[in-house]
Amino acid sequence: MSSRTLKPGVVTGEAYKALVEAAKSGGYALPAVNVTGTNTINAVMEAAAKANSDIIIQLSNSGGQFYAGKGLADGFQAKVLGSVAAAQHAHLLAEHYGICVAMHTDHANKALIPWIEALLDEGEKYYEQHGKPLFSSHMLDLSADPIDFNLSECARILERMAKIDMSLEIELGVTGGEEDGIGSEFDEAADNSKLYTQPEDVLRAYELLNPIGHFSVAASFGNVHGVYKPGNVKLRPEILKNSQSLVKETCNTSENPLHLVFHGGSGSEKAKIHEAVGYGVFKMNIDTDTQFAFSKPIGEFVEEHSRAFKFQVDPDDGTPYKKQYDPRGYLRLGEEGIVARLLEACDDLGSKGRSIAG
Ligand SMILES: [Zn+2]
Repeated sequence: MSSRTLKPGVVTGEAYKALVEAAKSGGYALPAVNVTGTNTINAVMEAAAKANSDIIIQLSNSGGQFYAGKGLADGFQAKVLGSVAAAQHAHLLAEHYGICVAMHTDHANKALIPWIEALLDEGEKYYEQHGKPLFSSHMLDLSADPIDFNLSECARILERMAKIDMSLEIELGVTGGEEDGIGSEFDEAADNSKLYTQPEDVLRAYELLNPIGHFSVAASFGNVHGVYKPGNVKLRPEILKNSQSLVKETCNTSENPLHLVFHGGSGSEKAKIHEAVGYGVFKMNIDTDTQFAFSKPIGEFVEEHSRAFKFQVDPDDGTPYKKQYDPRGYLRLGEEGIVARLLEACDDLGSKGRSIAG
């Protein structure tokens, strides 16, 4: 295991690569948590600090838009500005939490390539000023398109990203379900083989992209975005192992050459998670579970103090309710919900106590 330590804060370029390698060689994966505003981003950093785990923070396009404000008239501009604002927030604060944070963007399908290109415009500007990019990694999910288009677009974008020390996450194979409106319909009657990535496709991606720059692969091994009723698709982590072996043997690399990502991990069996991590999964996306973890305690609070959400002062007995309806009170409960859920996630993924920030 690498004994290298990194400066706390947002990690990019060589430091990001070291973070990925530390997880793979250390046999753990980092939670990658979707955020939508300062409440969620701060809660994620607080959880990482409490767990002494490094962490990946990511924004979907709609998360970015929400971060900028749903009231901004130009929705596309909001997706770009909100993502930039979230990254700047992390660049300013992450080091004070004492852990390493990788900043990612989440699923961008074909229609969202302009969002990624606009973020790269911003990333290049930031790189000129600071000698590092705004984000550690962007993601292109062109898995719904023909593989030739998927790979050639990924190569084109990665050429640009490599120049500013960024990594690209790609998706091969169709992960069922939907995440923030991005994803494919999950048809229970459909041929299940479509839900499993072919190792030959992963090899093609490696041969094309590895000479260009650093990249990671979200492969489908029966995982489903969002929470679905269990039993429809069987998780088959051995697909990841087969992909690693094919690349290793064909390209004569060291063990586990691919940096793998687990999408649709909410509600997965722990044994399957551990098996996947053993095959080089360094990142596991967690979105749906943290949304519920944030909302549940707020719902309980509102139920318990329902009159405070109807009256500023109780019309019957004059009780002032300021303490109960002050949003900081219940939003903090939501943050604490996220922290508790992520402490469990760090435990499940083996990242607890493994921060390499020094
Ligand atoms: Zn995905």
